[in-house]
Amino acid sequence: MKEIGDHIWQTVGIENGPHIMIIGGTHGNERTGVEVIRALVDQDFQIDAGVLTLALGNLKAIEIDERGSEPSHDLNRTYRSSLLETEPTGTYEDQRARELAPHLKAADYVIDLHATNKPSEAFLCSLLGPEQQKLHKFFPVSKVLSDRRYVLGNEPVTTDEYAETFGGTGMCYETGLASDTYRVKEVLGELSGMFSGMGLISGQPTPPGETSQKDHYELTLNILLTEAGFTWAPGFGNGSWESFMAGQTVGYHGEELLVPDYDGVVVFPKIAKHLHVGGSVGFLAKRIDSDKI
Ligand SMILES: [Zn+2]
Repeated sequence: MKEIGDHIWQTVGIENGPHIMIIGGTHGNERTGVEVIRALVDQDFQIDAGVLTLALGNLKAIEIDERGSEPSHDLNRTYRSSLLETEPTGTYEDQRARELAPHLKAADYVIDLHATNKPSEAFLCSLLGPEQQKLHKFFPVSKVLSDRRYVLGNEPVTTDEYAETFGGTGMCYETGLASDTYRVKEVLGELSGMFSGMGLISGQPTPPGETSQKDHYELTLNILLTEAGFTWAPGFGNGSWESFMAGQTVGYHGEELLVPDYDGVVVFPKIAKHLHVGGSVGFLAKRIDSDKI
């Protein structure tokens, strides 16, 4: 593989084929993605067709094993559509996003490898169109979380959303728990199945696993931390996919109850060190009928 930028590598196949980009370490403490990228680069992974771009995301954060280079900095909230047309903000995350953005724009498919800070089964995050679903089938997870209304960042701000803005297909893969790298080999195997299925390497594509059937969910609420503080109700906030019923109290903003009027789930509950006023405490999502997408 050829290093074409700072910790950005690329290999080009002899035949024509799609351009796939894979990123690890957009959040520095999410180690599985970092290990997966290092493994592919170390073995000088080659392809027969198309283009494969690999990148490590937040280099400073990876070095210190933290989510961002500073508390509350987040590379995956930095990819606004106007990023390259606006003045640099001076943060490391803004600088790194500018280095990665042209590659995200150039790829047909962008897969960003993440991990959660509280326990969760592995799951995918992406829109639910035919191009995204082409990717879904290579990953043996049972849940896909979409955010077509940009609940996460009010506008496109993540790697996958940036790719989508410029005509590509983006997906984030939540591979498991951040500190735990026991799934590295499995994820490498899944990516290898995807490379053959998408035509980058020749040979028989691996047939999709038993869990190729996915349940679809959509983000409904970004629970923001206010000066009043926030407490989860008993049984909530310990991990992703805790389910609640309409009318159930999920948490408290100070004295004020948070009571959704729909059945749903808690996703991405934050750990204490990632909390700051104005930032997220966690998110709510609800299951959606795949026929109504
Ligand atoms: Zn992440």
